[in-house]
Amino acid sequence: MEKVKVRNLHKYFEKLEVLRGIDLDVAEGEVVCLIGPSGSGKSTFLRCINQLEEITDGEIVVDGASITDKKANINKLRENIGMVFQQFNLFPHLTVAQNIMMAPVQLKKMTKDEAAVRAKELLEMVDLGEKYDEYPANLSGGQQQRVAIARALAMNPDIMLFDEPTSALDPEMVGEVLNVIKKLAKDGMTMVIVTHEMGFAREVADRVIFMDEGVIVEQGNPMDVFGDPQNERTKNFLNMVL
Ligand code: ADP
Ligand code: MG
Repeated sequence: MEKVKVRNLHKYFEKLEVLRGIDLDVAEGEVVCLIGPSGSGKSTFLRCINQLEEITDGEIVVDGASITDKKANINKLRENIGMVFQQFNLFPHLTVAQNIMMAPVQLKKMTKDEAAVRAKELLEMVDLGEKYDEYPANLSGGQQQRVAIARALAMNPDIMLFDEPTSALDPEMVGEVLNVIKKLAKDGMTMVIVTHEMGFAREVADRVIFMDEGVIVEQGNPMDVFGDPQNERTKNFLNMVL
């Protein structure tokens, strides 16, 4: 079954057409890596999927519910989608555990005690159990990003979106964050990941999508897209980044 279905998606900012007719199905448990040059619309596309941006035209269906449907409960839909950004955006005045517990408690899905237990489990999953009571400022960038992933998982989303999750990290911290994402992939999480880490995409993606100038130019399994790209624009891009 499809978790995400996008049909003929168009997005304008004023007169600028940033997404120019995108179609995409993401199956349950599928890992899609989105690659492409800066400015091609990758972030805007992710932001449209979880309604951080209003779409101009087309349709997006998440878990069978159309997000453009006037009756759709956008907050409920959004709870089902976890998002992790390049900047971790942890709340600096809250401890690591409090950061993770905030959404589940405020949105009243859990009691404080339940949320605390869940926070502990999630921190152990990202290998940071001992940082439970620490403040974000005392963590490295890689550790903060792992907390941000745990925080996104706290609402038990069934889709995770990642927008260049390792781009703000020092090189030695990239691996620890990618390992957490790999673990999620192994556990069957449905994910769309914007990344410049081509080795990672090759390893973890079921499908790689190359986007340029607001359209999907080429897609396929990683071996095909990286090993034998068909489109000139894909070839040029890969020549620059590989
Ligand atoms: P990518 O993530 O692939 O680098 P983006 O989705 O961030 O691309 O941006 C695509 C285009 O949309 C760029 O030209 C960018 O300047 C423009 N853009 C993104 N967000 C906004 C916004 N809020 N207002 C106006 N233009 C925007
Ligand atoms: Mg971007």
